[in-house]
Amino acid sequence: MTSADILNACGLDAAALDRIDGTLTVHSPCDGSCLARLREHTTEDAQRLIAQAHEAFLQWRQTPAPLRGELVRLLGEVLRERRTALGALVTLEAGKIKSEGTGEVQEMIDICDFATGLSRQLHGLTIASERPGHRMMETWHPLGVCGVITAFNFPVAVWAWNAALALVCGDSVVWKPSEKTPLTALAVMRAFDEAAARFERSHPGLAPQGLCSLLLGGAPLGEMLSQSPQVALVSATGSVAMGRKVAVAVAQRLGRSLLELGGNNAMVVTPSADLELALRAIVFSAVGTAGQRCTTLRRLIVHRSVADRLHERLAQVYAHLAIGDPREEGKLVGPLIDARAYEAMQNALRAAREQGGAVTGGERVPVGAAQAASASWYVKPALVRMPRQSEVMHAETFAPILYLVEYDGIEEAIDLNNAVPQGLSSAIFSNDVREAELFMSALGSDCGLANVNIGTSGAEIGGAFGGEKETGGGRESGSDAWKNYMRRATNTINYSGALPLAQGVRFDI
Ligand code: NAD
Repeated sequence: MTSADILNACGLDAAALDRIDGTLTVHSPCDGSCLARLREHTTEDAQRLIAQAHEAFLQWRQTPAPLRGELVRLLGEVLRERRTALGALVTLEAGKIKSEGTGEVQEMIDICDFATGLSRQLHGLTIASERPGHRMMETWHPLGVCGVITAFNFPVAVWAWNAALALVCGDSVVWKPSEKTPLTALAVMRAFDEAAARFERSHPGLAPQGLCSLLLGGAPLGEMLSQSPQVALVSATGSVAMGRKVAVAVAQRLGRSLLELGGNNAMVVTPSADLELALRAIVFSAVGTAGQRCTTLRRLIVHRSVADRLHERLAQVYAHLAIGDPREEGKLVGPLIDARAYEAMQNALRAAREQGGAVTGGERVPVGAAQAASASWYVKPALVRMPRQSEVMHAETFAPILYLVEYDGIEEAIDLNNAVPQGLSSAIFSNDVREAELFMSALGSDCGLANVNIGTSGAEIGGAFGGEKETGGGRESGSDAWKNYMRRATNTINYSGALPLAQGVRFDI
């Protein structure tokens, strides 16, 4: 399939996406080719769309939640039909290998299924009152406009995590995708429009115009979402630097933010670990998506007694990784997103060497004919044996660099795991139940995700996803993450004829 075929199969008109006046040029990281030139939204467009989303919210909140769930079910239905085409577009625009591209669309489908069921379970509590003839309860109500800012590396799934929940919760959604991946966002909007059209046929007039909209462009549009008092919740996924700005802008107006920021994830490999199992988990977590997942494994904390053996096995596997065009079958490592990512990787490797690290890999790999090879950024994943967990290991470099340090005692390993500013994902490989339990306990990993005998990346949608410290503290996707998208009201109902006051206060008039 050509790029145009993929775009057309996703419901887009490839020819119309190449506008002479387009200021947002979209390149494929697979070969550097130009995919489209798009018109960016202006701040006036953004204001209009936010206002429209607010109007849509005022109507949508009146639609019963299970009917809202029906719209999300239909979205899942359309996504199922377009799974292969959309997956191919994720590969083309974000450079993920094929199975990760379709896997990301599957994740959208999964969260639609989850949210559809959830639409009948948005329940609160009944609470014992201290006063006779009284009852207390908690009710959850729609919140408002949900602004969703997303990163390039999960160009569609993160929108779905937010939008599927927000929609069943009765909110409208305004999405500002990464300027590096606007085509997948346009394709997802087409899928939503199709679902809304099907919903309109069965439930005329219930899904308002402007329920889900898209803002195409760069950071200034994200800033507008953060600053707009009409945006009740800003859910932002991306770098810590971006999160700091969004957090301040939203806090300034006392709005609500949900932050999913960078990770710097570690795995502890203990003496009792099944090393071959660990090896497979390490390689997928460290080099999958070319090291460009928020949950990518970046730090390997290995017991001194097994470090040489594990390092040797890793070096063997790294030497034979299938690096290349992710559109081809059998490739495991696709490209970095752009030249800046490559430079950041080289800078980190330089710093690692200066800090005593022994580096293997990290070189640029030419893929394709001369023009494609010079316009794309494929690399050999790097394995770096470090003498200690030094400064370079405290930062997230969004590239496939795996640092390996040794430890002697399990407490020391946990301290190393927790010593970085980020707190997203972590894992331990151990067949010793005491070590595994300690790692998951209050004295263990300080991350939002703490796994045993699986890697740091590849979370399922059923659990709450997110992390602590500089990762931002937000939780999305499964469990009770839906509560972020609603407002809670506590109701006290008096069914007696008296008016007793709480805490025994007397106020006789
Ligand atoms: P980025 O921070 O450069 O951009 C993310 C989004 O924020 C883009 O849409 C961008 O336009 C927007 N943005 C930038 N500055 C902004 C501002 N001042 N106000 C509002 N919006 C602004 O991130 P990226 O390079 O696209 O993605 C990689 C980063 O995202 C990594 O740090 C990765 O760990 C993180 N990430 C985190 C998660 C998670 O769930 N924790 C998931 C995916 C990616």
